[in-house]
Amino acid sequence: MKYTRISINTATPAEARSRVMIIYTGGTFGMTYDESGVLIPFDFSLIKEQLPALRNLFLEITVVSFTKPIDSSNISPEHWKAIGEIIFENYQAQDGFVVLHGTDTMAFTASAISFMLPNLAKPVIFTGAQLPISQPRSDARENLITSLEIASAKQDGRPLVPEVCIYFDYQLLRGNRSKKVESMHFDAFESGNYPVLAKAGVKIDYNLAAISTPSTGTLRLLSTFDSSVAILKLFPGISPQMVDAVLNTEGVKAVIVETYGSGNAPTAPWFVHSLKAAVGRGLILLNVSQCPGGMVEQGRYETSKTLADIGVISGGDITLEAAVTKLMLLLAEFGSEETRARIGVSLAGEMA
Ligand code: ASP
Repeated sequence: MKYTRISINTATPAEARSRVMIIYTGGTFGMTYDESGVLIPFDFSLIKEQLPALRNLFLEITVVSFTKPIDSSNISPEHWKAIGEIIFENYQAQDGFVVLHGTDTMAFTASAISFMLPNLAKPVIFTGAQLPISQPRSDARENLITSLEIASAKQDGRPLVPEVCIYFDYQLLRGNRSKKVESMHFDAFESGNYPVLAKAGVKIDYNLAAISTPSTGTLRLLSTFDSSVAILKLFPGISPQMVDAVLNTEGVKAVIVETYGSGNAPTAPWFVHSLKAAVGRGLILLNVSQCPGGMVEQGRYETSKTLADIGVISGGDITLEAAVTKLMLLLAEFGSEETRARIGVSLAGEMA
């Protein structure tokens, strides 16, 4: 992947308070209109003109921009690898990172990055915007300024938020607990199963009890993904052919069964037999709820007890986004056997 690197010192002539790297991947945030009225990616070397308030942050900012910024609907594990490598290679030189990313798949990328960097002890704050920075009513300015403030915030010389987060619309959320829930209003993200890590108002109120404690180990980078993962979303009336088509997809190693409520599914014999046969063939079946809040509890109802009996693994309170990326990373790193043992254990605070 090709990058462009731009250095911006917003502190001169004073000394910078902190060093933050912005990784610009694309999305609505950086769009601007050219003379003919066409939306084109924004030139980051002009950020100080667009955002004069940056000067008050007294930061030394390095921008690493994808040479071809992309709509996040085109994000793939290759891009996760690139973002992870940029963070890993620049980790010692920076106090924190802000990743500018389209909102559509931001929760997937934030989840992936949280699993790729064991022992992370510095902030990696994902943000974006619902309206381009070139628009007068854009949310891009506030989202970026506060993300930079959070990425550079320290207490007793240590980073205040040593984890991968999403900052959006005055709320800081754990990245691998987040979901995009809104496409027209500014409150695009929610983390139904984990408290908000900070709220930005007149000042930024950090929820210190919910923020993870920094790791003392050495940062590592895991950057391979195995995409042999499928999703089987249940709905009343789903046909045996549909279920079998997903479970028999060539090459698939793990299937997330998106169930109802606290992990419930039909008890019809054909359905149970299909799932049982898939487990028998060595497939990993992970039960993840369609509900954005609450958790899978296999055995609470008769309609979920059967799943436990045939070897479906409970996803607990994990999000679909975290489940997909965690499975891909574990499969690549450890293979199917180990993945089965590790999928239910929290890696980076993504599940209780
Ligand atoms: N389609 C855009 C993207 O995800 C939407 C956004 O940036 O909010 O890249």
